[in-house]
Amino acid sequence: MTKRIPLIAGNWKMNLDHLQAIALVQKLSWTLSDAGHEYSSAEVAVFPPFTDLRSVQTLIEAEKFEVVLGAQDLSKHDSGAFTGEISGAFLSKLGCKFVLIGHSERRQYHSETDETVQAKVAAAWKHGLVPIICVGETLEELETQGQAAVPVAQTIAALSGHETLGEFVIAYEPVWAIGTGKVATPLEAESVAKAIRAAITENFGAESGQSRILYGGSVKANNVAGFLASGEVDGVLVGGASLDAEEFAGIARFQ
Ligand code: PEP
Repeated sequence: MTKRIPLIAGNWKMNLDHLQAIALVQKLSWTLSDAGHEYSSAEVAVFPPFTDLRSVQTLIEAEKFEVVLGAQDLSKHDSGAFTGEISGAFLSKLGCKFVLIGHSERRQYHSETDETVQAKVAAAWKHGLVPIICVGETLEELETQGQAAVPVAQTIAALSGHETLGEFVIAYEPVWAIGTGKVATPLEAESVAKAIRAAITENFGAESGQSRILYGGSVKANNVAGFLASGEVDGVLVGGASLDAEEFAGIARFQ
């Protein structure tokens, strides 16, 4: 069985222009390097806005930084008359490894459904990207359906209907914990991650069941270790705290 290397992913959302982006990635890489960070023991990825990707990629390449690049979304289409959309082909060419799909803000403010997410997962694989599929329950769903039902159903929906599955990562992000300061307990994150893994294994086989499952929702340097302690959660997806190089480096140095 291959070891699941922890993934520390920073979703910048709609923050930082390309100059601010360069400054943050530079500071982050220097801070990690000063701390002797081993990227083979925790992969570190940043998800800047589309307009920053080229600048950040150029910097990463020029400085041989080991921080990995990802995008916050992609189009389900390859190319054509889709004004404002970004093709996975463009992201691949820019050196992106990962792409976030189905973040709760996309589901909530852009009406993305399980079908949209499934189509975008297919587009990611088609263009050689690793989708990070975001799943999670709202407060109302938590109260009416419990914690695991919605994230498990969203995971199965995203992975269904594909001829074969490529590499993917699941990010369990309770909607009520995103940007609110409310955090799931490590035990809750562990139990939902277990339920998601069991559902993946049952529906898509043991190999897919070894995919990385992250926790996201108000993660900080001072609470990250608890989530990773059990070995069920294979990393974190971080929003607000990823905009501060020292704080995010502190999260990546959780061990
Ligand atoms: C997110 O946006 O994926 C997230 C987890 O945000 P925050 O860390 O700010 O809660």
